[in-house]
Amino acid sequence: MSMTLPDSKVQPVLLLDSKGQIKQFNEGFEKIFFPVQPGSPLSAHVHPEDREDFLAWFKSLPDNGGEGPVKTLRMINPSGNSLPAMVRPEILPNGDYALWFWEGRAAREGGGYWQTALTPAMEAVFSGILDGAFILDVEGKVVEVNQALCSMLGFHKYELIGLPVGKLFAQDPQEMNKATARFARIMKAGRVQEVNFTLRDRAGGEIEVSLNGAVIRGEGSHLVGILGIVRDLRESKIMSAMKEKAVELEAAMRQLSERDKVKDDFLSVVGHELRTPLANIMGYAEFLLEGELNPAEKKEFIQVVYQESRRLARLVNEILDMSRLEAGRLIYHYVPQPIDPVLNEVADSIRAEAEQKSILITRRLNCELEIWMDRDRIKQVVINLLNNAVKYSPSNTEVRIESESVDDGALVKVSDQGIGIEGENLTKVFEKFHRVTEVEHHTQGAGLGLPIAKRIIEEGHAGRIWLESPGKNKGSTFRFWLPRSGRK
Ligand code: ADP
Repeated sequence: MSMTLPDSKVQPVLLLDSKGQIKQFNEGFEKIFFPVQPGSPLSAHVHPEDREDFLAWFKSLPDNGGEGPVKTLRMINPSGNSLPAMVRPEILPNGDYALWFWEGRAAREGGGYWQTALTPAMEAVFSGILDGAFILDVEGKVVEVNQALCSMLGFHKYELIGLPVGKLFAQDPQEMNKATARFARIMKAGRVQEVNFTLRDRAGGEIEVSLNGAVIRGEGSHLVGILGIVRDLRESKIMSAMKEKAVELEAAMRQLSERDKVKDDFLSVVGHELRTPLANIMGYAEFLLEGELNPAEKKEFIQVVYQESRRLARLVNEILDMSRLEAGRLIYHYVPQPIDPVLNEVADSIRAEAEQKSILITRRLNCELEIWMDRDRIKQVVINLLNNAVKYSPSNTEVRIESESVDDGALVKVSDQGIGIEGENLTKVFEKFHRVTEVEHHTQGAGLGLPIAKRIIEEGHAGRIWLESPGKNKGSTFRFWLPRSGRK
């Protein structure tokens, strides 16, 4: 790849190959030092007394990009005069070296302000700025550019140094003139005002930038140049994208804190549901241990311990089911089978409990389809619906369980004449730990049964579950529908 050195009278630059042979020199070099022969070794132009030292320095330069240590030496011109110089090496990605020269005497004689103006500290600041930065001399020529600007424009540093400002940012003459005029205005006003414009990079791509900066004054407050800072406005687009991300993050945080609330609900509901049966079990077990009970009392107390243990076991199972469902770890075993036998089985198992409250369970089961389902999980759902119907209904009422074939699937309906469900609770009862306030204190439950049922029906069987209630104390009707082919 051939590179073109800048047409710079300001900063001499040489391009060397990895062996130290001169590949190119620019106008600045020729003018301030002397013309050299491409192909000849640079060491041939170094003062004989400095040559060994120079060669050792050149050999020690890293070969993997970046910059090397600055070297002072004496050059020797074709007439045999020695010219003190300072060299800053830059290792190019292709293994060549760009050597930036400062001619010592010219600097001493005030021949170029910029050849000595950048102190190492300033240079560090300059190269460390993340925005593009450049320095122009009073003629509007580029005397320094930082790496950020080089990357933005897609040029190498030595291609930019020495360019007139117009050429730095533009390719077509009109744009160049604009940039030159902008520079002239700055010089005249003695200050830099922020402007936005579009520049072109090496590939011709447009980059929206804002230009800001400051004029630089030397001794006696003479204007000696301009420091320009070029901000790539595409970065502000990144900023606004980041802002959007921040909003998303905030939403996620909110969700998280809602989850926290769910956790709090979990602790308060489950805490209560755990403590009550435990306290009962411990209390009655203690009575039993004291042993001063007649057989009837004993039986009664054992009954309580048994019931409360079941309540605990139910809660533990619900919590485990819920966490398995949420983690997607619940395994279903699908088998095609009719649903009515499952409904009958559940209704039978609940009859005794219903009879205690004089609640009549009636059945009208008319679904003959074979449904792809996990029998135990569907049973679990129906148990929960029937249990709830009995639990939330007063004595002497009726609970109906019905089934029919609808839309190539089974529709199951569980209705009661109980306390009913109103308003937002119609959907909220399917949320974890949600219990309708009125029932909270006088019925048992953790508010997990319906959310589990919903997941089993919808996620496990590609079905649907919903609820209707004409209002308070007017009963509730839960329905679920399972497609025949299930979620095989
Ligand atoms: P649990 O019954 O254990 O509290 P569920 O998730 O099964 O939990 O039910 C959630 C809530 O929905 C219940 O606390 C109750 O407020 C309400 N609910 C459920 N079924 C009925 C019903 N058949 N009639 C009235 N309210 C009901």
